[in-house]
Amino acid sequence: MFKEDFPIFDDQLIYLDSAASSQKPKPVLDTMLSFYTHQYSNVHRGTCALASRATQMYEDARQTVADFISADKKEIIFTKGATEAINLVASGYAQTLKTGDEVLVCISEHHANFVPWQQACLKSGATFKVFGILPDGTWDMDDFNKKLTTKTKLVAIAGMSNVLGVLNPVKEIINFAHKNGVKVLVDSAQSICHSAIDVKKMDCDYLAFSGHKIYGPTGIGVLYAKKEVLEQLPPYQFGGDMIDIVSVEKTTFAQLPARLEAGTPPIAEAIGLSSALDYVQQIGWDKVQAHGKCVFTHLIQQLKEMKDIQFLGNPDLKSGLVSFNINGIHPNDLSMILSKQNVCVRVGHHCAMPLHQFFNLSASIRVSLGLYNNEQDVDTFVVALKKAIGFFK
Ligand code: PLP
Repeated sequence: MFKEDFPIFDDQLIYLDSAASSQKPKPVLDTMLSFYTHQYSNVHRGTCALASRATQMYEDARQTVADFISADKKEIIFTKGATEAINLVASGYAQTLKTGDEVLVCISEHHANFVPWQQACLKSGATFKVFGILPDGTWDMDDFNKKLTTKTKLVAIAGMSNVLGVLNPVKEIINFAHKNGVKVLVDSAQSICHSAIDVKKMDCDYLAFSGHKIYGPTGIGVLYAKKEVLEQLPPYQFGGDMIDIVSVEKTTFAQLPARLEAGTPPIAEAIGLSSALDYVQQIGWDKVQAHGKCVFTHLIQQLKEMKDIQFLGNPDLKSGLVSFNINGIHPNDLSMILSKQNVCVRVGHHCAMPLHQFFNLSASIRVSLGLYNNEQDVDTFVVALKKAIGFFK
């Protein structure tokens, strides 16, 4: 249905790795090429018409991002990805956390929302705590309630795990955390392309995502934070653009968002991201979700019929992506044979080693869908998977 918008696809390629990174639709490619061809300049510094225009486009992109998640423009910081957005927040916390404080994350977090907090706690002497999941892949809310204490300073959780594919009840955690005076960071790297996000309704304190997982370019990500919370974050990097006055004696810093965006920003990438968000908006969330649900349901139905399949979590609770193993066959072997049939899936620990340890696994196969996938892709994949299994059994 939407495949024709994505020039990479020919008759052969079956791309089932959108959770790692999505393919790019023509409007995004055209926007970026046109910017580099006709409109390129650095931003914020020049007085020439080209620089003013590029600055306007970069700042318009910030507005588009803000509108996309119902935030205020002043609450949007451009980063190079979700990882950098989370590190920006974690580096601030590393400076203010004290011994006795606690940070709480889930066992299913991507390393990008796990390691920065572990390191911030190590640096500051705070305690790094982890709450569990149930075997079906949902959060263990009893464990969460037990582990959130009066010492907790921050909860960092994903809107959707990149392995389990469960859309998590973040609002429930946010409400509970806020009642206890605890701030919440939501890692929306996966959930951003599955449903509309309204940060005001969600009431998260911080939210992070990457452009490349929602049909935008690499090298651009977003940190949203409530204005009063952003004001508290110390500069993450130092250099050009983020200063007010510099002298030999001292430096004062610029207002937000510049204070947290040191150096030349990813200009074309921000404009490309804005185009990707426009693309999704123009299709509309209703259509995006209806299409996604239809193809994913077809995928799960087919997989459930397969012999020797072992899902990570309950397949009926997932959307958009599914991870599994076939008993007795290493996922690397299966993926190699799938690749020979032009089918791209992902194998490994998917940057979620603690989660794989919970399931007593070292690796799994992950199939993840994008707007461009259709039922025919699923059928081709299932035939290719059966062929690959047949090779070993
Ligand atoms: N969080 C989740 C849930 C992810 O799936 C990923 C990437 O796969 C990230 C964070 C990190 O995103 P990036 O590598 O674009 O910074």
